[in-house]
Amino acid sequence: MWILVVEDERKVAAFIRKGLEEESYTVDVACTGPDGECLAQANPYDLVVLDLMLPGKDGIEVCRSLRERGSTVPILMLTARDTVEDKIEGLESGADDYLVKPFAFEEFLARVRALLRRGPARDAVPLTVADLRLDRSTRTARRGDLEISLTNREFALLEFFMRRKGQVLSRAVIAEHVWGINFDSESNVIDVTVCHLRGKVDRGASFSLIRTIRGAGYMLCEREDR
Ligand code: CA
Repeated sequence: MWILVVEDERKVAAFIRKGLEEESYTVDVACTGPDGECLAQANPYDLVVLDLMLPGKDGIEVCRSLRERGSTVPILMLTARDTVEDKIEGLESGADDYLVKPFAFEEFLARVRALLRRGPARDAVPLTVADLRLDRSTRTARRGDLEISLTNREFALLEFFMRRKGQVLSRAVIAEHVWGINFDSESNVIDVTVCHLRGKVDRGASFSLIRTIRGAGYMLCEREDR
């Protein structure tokens, strides 16, 4: 098992590395956000331990950016901050678990083991809404019997819609989660991408899954009557 530890405090990084190596894990350490992101993209790690406060790019940004590029590696976020908002932000950026510093190494290890056992499980089960099916492990989408060809961004957007089916999603929420940017009302990039996606997903289908909610945003509906 190969683990990447992204942590800028040398003492903490050394402590984690030593403890994990004693458990026979292979460990790489990166000390900045950009270095960690780069290594995580280049190597097939089994787990990434990601500190929140990092030089260059913080843990939330690194996590979001890895997920946007399709990485499904389990991520354990570490932080000294422990407010509920921070935890939610960490998990919403795509982290799988969250541990507040200082922590007991035994608890850290238990969480590492749990995540390694779970593996990239979110991939194993395809997402389905009505006759639409999205398979993350093969990066394919189908509506009924028809295969839908999607760009990476459209794939991420459709996944985001499907995971939040039946919820109205504002352009600001979509911008933040799918593009990792703040919503710019001058830009029509979201509307254009949704329009393309809808063309592909709903073309020829018996009813439209992706609806525009006037003045509010978009929603993926499961049934015709909503
Ligand atoms: Ca730090």
